[in-house]
Amino acid sequence: MRDVADNLAQVKETMAKAMTDHFVDHPMPQVVAVSKRFPAERIEPLLAAGHRCFGENQVQEAQEKWPALKARYPDVSLHLLGPLQSNKVAAAVALFDVIESLDREKIARRIKVAAEAHGRMPTLFVQVNTGEEEQKSGVFPSDLPALLKVCREELGLSISGLMCIPPLDEEPAIHFAFLKHLAEENGVPRLSMGMSADYPTAAAVGADYVRVGTALFGDRPEAATP
Ligand SMILES: *Cc1c(COP(=O)(O)O)cnc(C)c1O
Repeated sequence: MRDVADNLAQVKETMAKAMTDHFVDHPMPQVVAVSKRFPAERIEPLLAAGHRCFGENQVQEAQEKWPALKARYPDVSLHLLGPLQSNKVAAAVALFDVIESLDREKIARRIKVAAEAHGRMPTLFVQVNTGEEEQKSGVFPSDLPALLKVCREELGLSISGLMCIPPLDEEPAIHFAFLKHLAEENGVPRLSMGMSADYPTAAAVGADYVRVGTALFGDRPEAATP
């Protein structure tokens, strides 16, 4: 297995090439290193190599791993990528620096309350279900303007970006371009899109964040079965 820092360098090189090939005039996307289901020992080498941007998809798992790591590396930026249940919002607000999976009004309201209670407001992204898949989280594109309006006008929440996970069996570039269009139309500045299988495409479309797990860390351990 290659060194995880070498893998990160490779990911950046691949993005740089994709951007050059497509004449993209945009800063290189930040790599959110998706460390879900990997233990702290696997994360440490990337921290030691200077990387500071990480993603997890479960609040509870992140609570077990990250407080100790963040104590040693206080400048880490930790992104929540997975669906957020309302009973986990307070814990998420306390631990995460970026919440990428805001997708409904109820969660937005809870975030506001929790942020006031904790005196810290994470950066917020709205997850958009660009493929309108029933089983997937994310607000449907047609409901995005109303959600943004509640967040901005009623709750005073600033929405920094949009995030999407395209359907597995569809061309990701179409979804990335659609997300970019939605962001422009709704005045949202940043885009989180692209995973191990399609991050070069996302970089070529103008992503600000790519979320890369297996291409850095290798195959993920199975989820523990309860
Ligand atoms: C797991 C996960 C990723 C990373 O997936 P890889 O294919 O391992 O790169 C990215 N985004 C989200 C929302 C995830 O849950």
